[in-house]
Amino acid sequence: MKDAFGREINYMRISITDRCNLRCRYCMPEGIQCVPMQDILTFEEIERVCREAVGLGITRFKITGGEPLVRLGCPALVRMIRRIPGVCEVTMTTNGVALKQYLPELLVAGLDAVNISLDTLDREKFRQITGFDRLTRVWDSIDAALESGLRVKINTVLQRGINDGEWEKLLLLAEKRALDVRFIELMPIGYGANGGMVSNVDLMRRIRERYPQIEPDATVHGNGPATYWRIPGFEGGVGFISAIHGKFCTRCNRIRMTAVGEVKPCLCYERSFDIRHALRDGSGDEVRETLLCAIQAKPDMHCFEEREAVTERRLMAKIGG
Ligand code: SAM
Ligand code: SF4
Repeated sequence: MKDAFGREINYMRISITDRCNLRCRYCMPEGIQCVPMQDILTFEEIERVCREAVGLGITRFKITGGEPLVRLGCPALVRMIRRIPGVCEVTMTTNGVALKQYLPELLVAGLDAVNISLDTLDREKFRQITGFDRLTRVWDSIDAALESGLRVKINTVLQRGINDGEWEKLLLLAEKRALDVRFIELMPIGYGANGGMVSNVDLMRRIRERYPQIEPDATVHGNGPATYWRIPGFEGGVGFISAIHGKFCTRCNRIRMTAVGEVKPCLCYERSFDIRHALRDGSGDEVRETLLCAIQAKPDMHCFEEREAVTERRLMAKIGG
């Protein structure tokens, strides 16, 4: 269905846990409290939300977290959502640590594509950024996902002075692999507000200097706000998600739901609608009405470029990206 600004809302990101097996410094550093399990939506509750969402024209779902694969039975949830009549696509965003292990079950469940987050190719730097020595496991998962034929995107957040020197090595992952490498600007959410963002405008300048033949790619690569480019001779593509230096709001097609059932109209603002209450204590229609309210409450645009106006106080690990 259309929101108040005429945008077609057909995509929903669902965080299924706020737990994670990594501790990325800009997302979920050490010492963060997780919510008790009884506050987390059950798979049956999530499925019910998805059924209502499909009725409103939302047919594409992204499973995220925290780390979605730390929630027991995650492939079963993928299957439950994929089987709902009208669902076109179920995809996942994961850090890749446990992906190889669950890949066979996820494929049987009907997972359509996967985004794997990877900020560095250096083992020691991976440990510094994420708190764990698990780069090899992520690599194995990327290889396994590609071999399986799943569509793969790599999500990279560059941080000044930490991994921005690695942009070319990361870009070159797309040279001989059929995957997209996407550079996401660090957003001022949670610990991401501490600074270190690398502008995608500056990054593009550096890429153009090195690869002047880079050209826009108008083909559809996914559901999101990314713009895509191709470098002749590369098997995969290059994407940019420029929250700060590229207003993508006119193309916004999504709502988000946290693991405790807060439905968020926009990533940037704290405002959310409590669907857990609707599920557990509400009348039959309240779930649908909560989704409708969230869609109609979508603002015309975010304000990430104006840090003081950002009202979201939750951590990204609680929202799901
Ligand atoms: N654990 C999964 C993963 O890492 O892909 C899913 C959840 S994680 C919150 C989703 C994405 O959000 C990751 O690619 C992560 O790098 C990104 N992210 C976290 N904090 C961010 C921030 N402040 N700005 C931009 N992206 C952020
Ligand atoms: Fe965990 Fe993903 Fe956040 Fe890293 S970015 S701490 S892997 S939720």
